[in-house]
Amino acid sequence: MRALTSGYGNRVARRWFIFVGHETGFLSASACRTQAGIISLGTSLKYLTTMAWFTRSKQNIETRDKPGEGGAARDTMPDGVWAKCSECKEILYQKMIEENLFTCPKCDKHFRIGSEEYFKILLDAGMEEEIAANLLPADPLNFKDSKAYTARVIDAHRKTHLNEAMRVAIGTIESRPVVLGVMDFSYIGGSMGSVVGEKFSRAIDRAIADRRPYIMISSSGGARMQEAAISLMQLAKTSSKLAQLAAARIPYISILTDPTTGGVTASFAMLGDVNIAEPKALIAFAGPRVVEQTIRKKLPPGFQRSEFVQEHGFIDLISHRKELKATVARVLNHLA
Ligand SMILES: [Zn+2]
Repeated sequence: MRALTSGYGNRVARRWFIFVGHETGFLSASACRTQAGIISLGTSLKYLTTMAWFTRSKQNIETRDKPGEGGAARDTMPDGVWAKCSECKEILYQKMIEENLFTCPKCDKHFRIGSEEYFKILLDAGMEEEIAANLLPADPLNFKDSKAYTARVIDAHRKTHLNEAMRVAIGTIESRPVVLGVMDFSYIGGSMGSVVGEKFSRAIDRAIADRRPYIMISSSGGARMQEAAISLMQLAKTSSKLAQLAAARIPYISILTDPTTGGVTASFAMLGDVNIAEPKALIAFAGPRVVEQTIRKKLPPGFQRSEFVQEHGFIDLISHRKELKATVARVLNHLA
């Protein structure tokens, strides 16, 4: 490394570092100033191009789960004849949990379930038809982080037997025809990429064509980082489709389950004519760990859980899973 001697070079290097380094988050402003003082602009540019953009240089935010691995396994349904509730630690007969619609009979803990279970719980005769079932994610950016995106997709399909993080069904709820979209958290953390956006959009096209209310059950870690800006563009797509649905005067009910976070909260989960949440579900944009470690303050108990979010005006209703179907039917009777 060559030490910077000219004042002009020093200023340019400093500006470059403050602009790029600070914006991309891999160098703090004070680190930029120190770096600018000791290395040349040429070296710094080389340093920037070789810097791994997707590796954290500072471990500011603690992550419990491996990124993209579908989040905490502790809230999913345990396998076996007997299962231990992750909340009250009660040992329960698996069959009893299933009969209780995958909630704990002792403490009402709602275990995380997928689209298949929700179709059975909400629809009178299950799924009658599936919309856009065969849409598969593409990899236009040829993205690779700790693992290639294409490999991640193959892996997710092998583990979940799902094609994507969302499925859309046609069916009836208490004899009323509906379009029902459900997200699967088990598929890459229920992340929203271009396929989720497209399925959401086609579900609305069908809801408008058949004049059926649209119900969406969200469960997601947010936008899919492997699709970068393309996943962020789904916000514009889904919210403009919802505007079309509203213009056609067709109800949209959003059901938020544990967890509904990030880009999905921002894109469509909070836009329901009526927003319903399952009890104690995590509902957030940035999650509590990120908030806590950023503001360095202890958060109040129950922060960003359904009850807290309802108290602050973002959720209209909280419904136990056993009453969810009746609640949706009642809301539809009021709206449609
Ligand atoms: Zn329990």
